[in-house]
Formats: sequence, C-alpha cells, structure tokens
Amino acid sequence: MKTNITEKGRIKMEHIPKNHPRADSLRTRQRIIDGLHENIVIEAGLIAHGRGEAFDYLIGERTNDNAMHAIEVAVAALFSAKHAVISVNGNVAALCAEEIVRLSKITGALLEINLFYGKPGRIEAISKTLRDAGADNILGIIPFESSVIHNLSSNRRFVDPKGIKIADTVLVPLEDGDRTEALKEEGKRVITIDLNPLSRTAQQADITIVDNIIRVIPRMCEIAKDYKQQLDKNKLFRKELQEKVIKWDNAVNLSNAMMIISTYLESKVSFNKN
Ligand code: ATP
Ligand code: MG
Repeated sequence: MKTNITEKGRIKMEHIPKNHPRADSLRTRQRIIDGLHENIVIEAGLIAHGRGEAFDYLIGERTNDNAMHAIEVAVAALFSAKHAVISVNGNVAALCAEEIVRLSKITGALLEINLFYGKPGRIEAISKTLRDAGADNILGIIPFESSVIHNLSSNRRFVDPKGIKIADTVLVPLEDGDRTEALKEEGKRVITIDLNPLSRTAQQADITIVDNIIRVIPRMCEIAKDYKQQLDKNKLFRKELQEKVIKWDNAVNLSNAMMIISTYLESKVSFNKN
C-alpha cells in the first residue's frame, strides 16, 4: 500500500497533495518541520509559527496596502542606514533563506545569525543553509563573549562586534519582545516583520510590517531593486528615502493593522446586526 509517511514516521514535502485547499500553507509548515529535523528550528519555533498562522487568517492571508507601505518604508530605512544588519533566526532561515540573502545583497545590509537557543550544531546548520542560498559573508558564527547588548539575559545578548553591536538599523523578523526593547535602548532603529500587531516586538519596533515573512521578503527584494536603480541614477533619491522614514508613524501603522483585522472579521459576520 502507498503511504505518505517515511520510515521515520515523517511526512515529506512531496507528499503534500497539490490539490489540497491549503497546500501552500502546508508546504510552509513543512519547511518549519524539516527545519526542526535539520537542527535549524527549535521546538518553540513551531509554536511561534502556529501563532503567526493564526494572525495570518485574521488579515485574510494577503498583503494589504498598509503592510505594503510599511514594506516600502522598511526598505527605505535599510538604504538610509550607515550600517544595517539583518538578524537571522531559525524560522527565518527555514522559511526564506534565499530571499533574505537576496535582500542582503541588494541593500548591502549584513546578515547576522542570532539565536535564543544555541543548541550544539545549530549555528553551523543555519549558516550552511544561508551559504547554500548564496551568502558569502555571515556574521554571528563564533561566540562574542565581550560584545553584548545590555539589558538582555538570553543568549541573544552576544552579538557580532562587526554587526549588530555597531549597527544603526537592525531588521529583526519574527522576534521576541525583550530583544527588540534592548536593541531600542541601545539607540538602534528596529524594523520587524510580525503578523501579530499586539506583540511586544510589533509595539516596540520603529517600523512594523504586519504581514507574513513568506510574502514580505520577496516584495522587499523587488522594492529594493527598484530603489537601488533609482539611487544609481540620481543620488538625491537618498534624501527622498530618508524623508519617507522620518515621516513614518508606527502607531498609526499598528492602528491601521488592527482596524484591518477588525474590518475583516466584521465582513465575515453573517448574522443580522439590526
Ligand atoms: P513578543 O515577545 O514580541 O510579545 P511573542 O512572545 O508572542 O511576542 P515570539 O514567539 O517571541 O512571540 O516571536 C514570534 C513572533 O513572530 C510572533 O508574534 C508571531 O506572531 C510572529 N510570526 C510567526 N511566524 C510568522 C511569519 N511567518 N510571518 C510573520 N510573523 C510571524
Ligand atoms: Mg516573546
């Protein structure tokens, strides 16, 4: 009998039926599960992904105009930075290694691995994934006992002296709240991607993209390519990008995101309200 379970009791990507109504979502989930078995993702990463999925339902699993605006400002902030770093954790590596490497190459932002749980072999597994995806310079690979982010107790306080430590702008997708707070206290501009507009990270960041990282990073790459072309043609375009960032109001962005959720839910309520 044909089975879709491997001898180790695992389902494989190719076993997901193409005509399944939620095939895309299942494939994304499978990448996280594969990441767990490859020592890239940790168990808590599965829970974080599930929370993200729940919020994705609430925004209709699509990129709305509000998120699109945040994406543009986030890319503008990367180009406006003197020293931008993209922080990579296990879920980010499992979900979009190629796209994140592409974004780093287009914008010049450096890639740094930064993990909550430093299980043996995990940094090596993540850096291999990034290298296979085309990265040639990855920071955060060796421990930096002397280079720390203050007011942070987890392993993530150890950062690369050539990366997050001296960065003025840090993209921290799928992040935990206390790290965002600590990075802010060090005076850094923090950009995040977080489907939950109520998380501490979403609330604390300077620019919060309330959308699924799977959809966000490819869009950021497209916009970054466009901005780069404009910058190559016209140096004054940098000023326009800086102004976009200065004008940005993240509180309004978060209110809009919550309004979108509320409106979406109301549109689904079918009982007669009168
Ligand atoms: P906080 O500590 O910021 O209050 P949290 O403890 O709820 O948040 P964590 O597990 O620390 O959350 O971080 C994961 C965050 O990433 C969650 O807010 C989750 O909604 C979000 N998330 C998970 N998967 C995705 C995804 N694919 N795209 C965007 N956001 C995601
Ligand atoms: Mg948290």
